[in-house]
Amino acid sequence: MRISEEQIRQVNKQIDALVSSGSFYGKKLKEAGIEHISSSEDFENLPFSEKNDLRDAYPLGLMTAPEKDIVRIHSSSGTTGLPVIIPYTAKDVDDWAIMFKRCYEMAGITNMDRIQVTPGYGLWTAGIGFQNGAEKLGAMVIPMGPGNTDKQLQMMMDMKSTVLCSTSSYALLLAEEIEKRGIKDQIHLKKGVIGSERWGEKMRQRISNELGIELYDIYGLTEIYGPGIGISCKHDCGMHYWDDYIYIEIIDPKTGKNVPDGEFGEVVITTLVKEGAPLIRYRTHDMSRIIPGTCPCGSPFPRLDVIAGRTDDMMKIKGVNVFPNQIEEILAGFPEVSSEYQIRISHLDGKDTMRIYVETNGSVDFQDLAKRIAATVKSKIGFTPLVKVVEIGLLPRSEKKTKRVIDERYE
Ligand code: ZN
Repeated sequence: MRISEEQIRQVNKQIDALVSSGSFYGKKLKEAGIEHISSSEDFENLPFSEKNDLRDAYPLGLMTAPEKDIVRIHSSSGTTGLPVIIPYTAKDVDDWAIMFKRCYEMAGITNMDRIQVTPGYGLWTAGIGFQNGAEKLGAMVIPMGPGNTDKQLQMMMDMKSTVLCSTSSYALLLAEEIEKRGIKDQIHLKKGVIGSERWGEKMRQRISNELGIELYDIYGLTEIYGPGIGISCKHDCGMHYWDDYIYIEIIDPKTGKNVPDGEFGEVVITTLVKEGAPLIRYRTHDMSRIIPGTCPCGSPFPRLDVIAGRTDDMMKIKGVNVFPNQIEEILAGFPEVSSEYQIRISHLDGKDTMRIYVETNGSVDFQDLAKRIAATVKSKIGFTPLVKVVEIGLLPRSEKKTKRVIDERYE
């Protein structure tokens, strides 16, 4: 997805605002001597923004609009050290709600829906983002926040909620409770808007089947508004994102260079119209790809594939970027293998190779199973691994998190 003329014009306005405000990134751009860009090459030479820089700007160093225009802050829940504080103007808050309204519309949700919001309210962007978008749409919000499952289910029944907004793990918990309590006939849910975590196909099927609802993946991060910058459509082939508000490029996380559409890499996002805290080329460390071509739904908005993992998880085998969860998903399609597996990557005879160890019971032809797994990896990811099938119980197990990927190239 090359940056368009219009997007270049918007980026220049963001650069102007940053530099003239003297904010954290404004100073950095000024020091780097950056004024205007006029081509995609210029754009790709702009420096990246990193989460660590954002922490250095704590508390309000990112503030780019005058304080009189700032109406709110949000904060990302940093796992280590200082949090990141993002200031929003009234226009930023409104833009975010407009994007979120589009998300609901993409999922076929209307002003006659009743939307139960279970993500948390507070400093982070989750609950309030779902709420503002729903109000913009004109739907009825049931602002529950997380937890208190008894109350949650009572309201779901009494209010006849039709849409559940949730994390995948909480949706699964609710689905299991509904099943356990035998109250499925009193639940009116039709759709689920699920955000913020990576989740496998097996989990998705369970939630969808047990609740009897359609599921939509929503994307976003606090640094870039919050959830709502993209969502999957009913064809479930990637998430449409709003390229009039954000520009997304995919880079090789090692070299920092753009990769062609269709190839996996790190998601880098540039805000196009943000006022409170514009960000240029923000490295999300999320791994995904741009899906080329047009979606069967006909939407003109480009698509980002669902998030495949974090940059730290990526492996490169025979020139192809691979994530452990891609292998995991493929193995999940083989009911004859156990949940234990091990991936070993080594460098032999000048080539990177991947060996996959899986377990099965004695009733299966080991060689045939190995061949079928290797062929599936080849057709879905693009290289042929060596697959070794062993008896159940032979792979190492540990009380703690089992190490499933062993990279021997750097040992
Ligand atoms: Zn679509």
